[in-house]
Amino acid sequence: MQGIRGLFVPGPTNVPEAVRKAMDVPMEDHRSPDVPALVLPLFQDLKKVFRTETGQVFLFPATGTGGWEASITNTLSPGDKVLAPRFGQFSVLWVDLCQRLGLDVETLDCEWGTGVPLETVAERLMADKKHEIKAILACHNETATGVTSDIGGLRKVMDQCDHPALLYVDGISSIGSLEFRMEDWGVDLAVAGSQKGFMMPAGLALIGVSQKALEASKTAQLRRCYFDFKDMIATNATGYFPYTPPMHMLHGLRASLNRIEAEGLENIWGRHRFLAEGVRRAVAAWNLTLCAKEPKWHSDTVSAIVVPEGHDARKVIARAYERYGLSLGAGLSVVAGKVFRIGHLGDLNELMLMMALGGAEMSMRDVGLPIEAGSGVAAAEEFWRASNSRSMALA
Ligand code: PLP
Repeated sequence: MQGIRGLFVPGPTNVPEAVRKAMDVPMEDHRSPDVPALVLPLFQDLKKVFRTETGQVFLFPATGTGGWEASITNTLSPGDKVLAPRFGQFSVLWVDLCQRLGLDVETLDCEWGTGVPLETVAERLMADKKHEIKAILACHNETATGVTSDIGGLRKVMDQCDHPALLYVDGISSIGSLEFRMEDWGVDLAVAGSQKGFMMPAGLALIGVSQKALEASKTAQLRRCYFDFKDMIATNATGYFPYTPPMHMLHGLRASLNRIEAEGLENIWGRHRFLAEGVRRAVAAWNLTLCAKEPKWHSDTVSAIVVPEGHDARKVIARAYERYGLSLGAGLSVVAGKVFRIGHLGDLNELMLMMALGGAEMSMRDVGLPIEAGSGVAAAEEFWRASNSRSMALA
């Protein structure tokens, strides 16, 4: 195909030129005396992105799923009870991982399009007088449905119930893009992936771990080897890894963190809100709805757009890819065929996002959806044009 392809799945996201170039390095000696000068500042700067001062950040060559596994196996024991709200494909998969690892998972099943149900969690924690629940798993940004949950609110609920469970947060499609405050929200294990807000290829799982979780890891009995925090702690302290690290990814991470630092996290959160709002205006102008049931659930990194009854979102996605070279995110599992997703996270601006809106609009019309030509693009355009700043205050 001539020209560039549009990558608008909600991760992997576009890798900025500076990050791609930083990764293009000759192979190097990962035990050389030069390595700590690269590695040690990465850990310091990652703490700023996770917004933790007292926690520790681990880097594993793995994807986000490996990050889930590392956080669970390091801190829990076989048969431990965990409470897991489930409202989209990624919370489904996280529960599955916990069950396969031998945990006793109590799910709170919620309608897809909603998020962590704070009142139900509160009731459940209040009833748990013996503190049998050892962990609460919350998917901050459910990428399958475009739903963001209130993690600060969840922490308040846990505190009001005076419940000592560890708080695990899947921040894979939020950390580095959406407001995330590990320390303030009392998050014990926060999992991120390199291919989303960090604007890198997939392949690094980044995990923020609180002191409370590190303490728990000393007695946790689940089997682990490659993912053992203990080995990491010992070698990371001097700026090395217990095995061969992917050096090119570490160079890419350096460049990514430099960009994050230069833009500023608050500005990044505001930019994601601003860009996402333009997409939401387009969806409204198309007379379509989001999978997210209420504005309080709206995700600023991904919009899952519901196609009208009698239409198949898979056709929109196929048409966009084949005719226009545009990748849109598919509907996963129970929303397959019902939604298509536009990822709007990472290294992105209005004109790039216009490509996704224009391509989605043309593809929907091509496969017979009743969409007025230019309607969504015009609505986004009017919203974005009205502001000189590429940012928007968070509520
Ligand atoms: N959790 C969420 C919210 C995700 O969006 C994803 C991937 O898109 C995952 C978990 C799984 O991460 P990975 O595919 O990097 O293993």
